[in-house]
Amino acid sequence: MSCRTFGVAVLLAGYFLTVPSFATDEEEGEAIRDTTQQFRGEDSQAMQGLARAGFFQTLQPFALDAKAATSADVKASLTMPSLQEGEPNKKYDIILQPGHYLRKKGSGKNLGTAGKDVTEQQLVAFITANVATHLIDNKLNVIVVSADGYKSGLSTDIFLSIHADGSTNECGTGPSLGYSEESSLLGMHGIAFALATSLGQTYEDFRDDNFTTNLSKYYMFKHVKVSPKGFAGLLEVGELTCPAKEKALIANALLIAKNLGVALKSSHEIIKEPLDSK
Ligand SMILES: [Zn+2]
Repeated sequence: MSCRTFGVAVLLAGYFLTVPSFATDEEEGEAIRDTTQQFRGEDSQAMQGLARAGFFQTLQPFALDAKAATSADVKASLTMPSLQEGEPNKKYDIILQPGHYLRKKGSGKNLGTAGKDVTEQQLVAFITANVATHLIDNKLNVIVVSADGYKSGLSTDIFLSIHADGSTNECGTGPSLGYSEESSLLGMHGIAFALATSLGQTYEDFRDDNFTTNLSKYYMFKHVKVSPKGFAGLLEVGELTCPAKEKALIANALLIAKNLGVALKSSHEIIKEPLDSK
């Protein structure tokens, strides 16, 4: 964190007395630190970097007549591309993990949440499979790991786990994004921007929902080694227990996947830029 950003964060700390209700079902420990202001402070720098990588040209805009997915599409059985445990002695460009996917152990919320039409496992597996396909088509070295079928110590530039939220306070939560300590915020902005665009929202409005929290306790983060300019993140695409949001998430699932793929590809290009390039 730069001195200036730190100063702003300290100044603002007094105004943000409540920690946002960001709690994933697979988080370990209680150390949640709200870094929303830091995240916003690095917004324009991140956007410039993303623009350089062609992110905004390739992002697919929201359109009411876009090819929509149905709950039958989301529920259909699928073959997850490049599903494997990974090899610790290899270096991957991107590792994706659909939330709770193929979970063998645990019960209840460890198996994920559900909406009226689809389960979290179904929705995020559908989105992740389409993200992976997009990235593999773009020649990136991508693997998908299941909830507990992975080797520890995998090396990657980017790790992203994709979840959907459930809430007892129906329609009370928005999307959220967590990341491990030392992660590149640029990549996180790209992912957040991609999701906002896919749901037809402006980024400014979208971010107002306490979108970011520094989440360093997600169980997978300690199993991956991320390269210096890379990031490990956890995206909650939205609340599945809110009927209107569930409908929007299903209808836009393909667009969300496409745009997350675009964001990840641009982020990866930036990670690969030489350190002295501008
Ligand atoms: Zn989940």
